[in-house]
Amino acid sequence: MRTRNAVAVLVSRLSSLVSLISLISLAAPVSAQSADLVLRHATVYTVDAAHPTARAVAVKDGKIIYVGADAGVTKYIGPATRTLDLAGRFVFPGFADAHAHIPGIGAREIAMLLNLEGTRSKDEFLVRVAAAVRQKKPGEWVTGRGWIETFWVPQAFPTREDLDKIAPNNPVWLTRADGHASVANSAALRLADIVGTTPNPAGGNINLDRDGQPTGMLIDHAQGLVDRLVPRPTEAQLDSALMLAAQRELSLGWTQVQDAHGTWDEVERMRRLFRSGQLRLRLYKAIDGPGAQADLLIAQGPGAAEFNDRFQVRTIKFVMDGALGSRGAALLDPYRDDPRTRGLITTDTTAMKEMLIRALRAGIQVETHAIGDRANRITLDLYAAAMKAVPPAERKVKRPRWRIEHSQIVNPADIPRFKQLGIIASMQPSHAIGDLFFAASRLGTARLTGAYAWQSFFKLGVPVAGGTDAPVERGEPMIEFYAAVARKSLDGRSGPATEWHPEEKVTREQALKMFTWFPAFAAFEEDRHGSIVVGKAADFTVLDQDIMKIPETQIPKTKNVMTIVGGEIVYHKK
Ligand SMILES: [Zn+2]
Repeated sequence: MRTRNAVAVLVSRLSSLVSLISLISLAAPVSAQSADLVLRHATVYTVDAAHPTARAVAVKDGKIIYVGADAGVTKYIGPATRTLDLAGRFVFPGFADAHAHIPGIGAREIAMLLNLEGTRSKDEFLVRVAAAVRQKKPGEWVTGRGWIETFWVPQAFPTREDLDKIAPNNPVWLTRADGHASVANSAALRLADIVGTTPNPAGGNINLDRDGQPTGMLIDHAQGLVDRLVPRPTEAQLDSALMLAAQRELSLGWTQVQDAHGTWDEVERMRRLFRSGQLRLRLYKAIDGPGAQADLLIAQGPGAAEFNDRFQVRTIKFVMDGALGSRGAALLDPYRDDPRTRGLITTDTTAMKEMLIRALRAGIQVETHAIGDRANRITLDLYAAAMKAVPPAERKVKRPRWRIEHSQIVNPADIPRFKQLGIIASMQPSHAIGDLFFAASRLGTARLTGAYAWQSFFKLGVPVAGGTDAPVERGEPMIEFYAAVARKSLDGRSGPATEWHPEEKVTREQALKMFTWFPAFAAFEEDRHGSIVVGKAADFTVLDQDIMKIPETQIPKTKNVMTIVGGEIVYHKK
């Protein structure tokens, strides 16, 4: 015991020595503080309530060492300092996307799949698929993603017969933009042995026509029946997809992406590319649960930040339901436009319940995809039960910052429960402006109260972390910022105004925090990211227009001109 005490005394003396040393270096003459990088003649929005704006910043060793006036920054400029005159451009804390899917963005970038985004009619969709079929030999798979039938007239799902006409000899498999539904042609259904009598898998639906035959549409977990037959991409393709995705995100101004799915294979791929210096985008990666992959994370405990704070794994992702467009979102009451269904619960809630308790003990964060009001309620119930079963004294992380991803259609009675339970609402503004054309037909107008209810969450003091859900949506920060403050489609339409709850818009200050400070909070990083403050990481997004002041319609036209991560210029618009 004596030795242990002696060690303790030594440690405490050492630590006071360390603090003394840091005091000395703080008091040292500023001439010693020659910066690596200085940005000046800019409008800097800091997201720091004490000093909301500035004109200049100085950076050393990847950290911010000065925020203030142009005059004050001069003394940080030494012979080796790179000084950028930003000529009035606008500097923000590095934007962070709290919810996206990096592998999916990569697949879109590398054109591993036929990109069907923006098809405005079923005919146009079929023309694009037919062109892809012509590139293939008979028997080869044709795979694609990105179609959304709610933009078509009529708003009807494509069918296997549509595809059979253009692809009689190739299996075809085309995933809806939301990833929660896909359409197969007859050749693909045959390979998967799907017929009218095939039972629906748990959490999935094989849509049938009036004659009891498959329409080709497979919802949520039913997609696995065909997905498992599609040829896998090579390792080299997966590497280049990841690199292209990261480069795209940096060029748009994102400095961090929170990757809302994951396996340990993907983690190892990311680690390898970080290690070789090829990945510079910060990533906060989730592991899918329940199951063996998530068990491993619980056994290891929350991972420390790796690669100089670029990468972290400490979160389990659950998926409670499907999506609204494909009527997989789990609702308390039936769909207004299809009273036979209330949507799908897509996770094993018994396994999840048990895993939540272990996660809470081990200090593991949890995030759960929940779109419908039933899915949100079940998730809140499960979170509450786990928190009751494991009181703070028995938790490795007392305030676990659990999240609900999308928090999209929430019964108004459940909104205060986010506050009571300390849950983060992780929301994607673009979903509201994409869904405004069909949400009322799926839900009726009464259920739009509590739908995409950003301001209701803010008013209660619930942290609202903003994301894009790319590749479900485009994944561009200016589209998200615009959607959050305008709550209108990109062409300025807001649907029936009385029904689309303009009171749920957010202010520009709130929108900025949704893409800076709150994602940092949602990743336990607000001490080092999320605002422009001395001592924090030098992550900046530089825009060509003042999104805090310009007319709303100008916001989506605003361009990122420079992205800086840890003091390093990782993107510079030529
Ligand atoms: Zn998602």
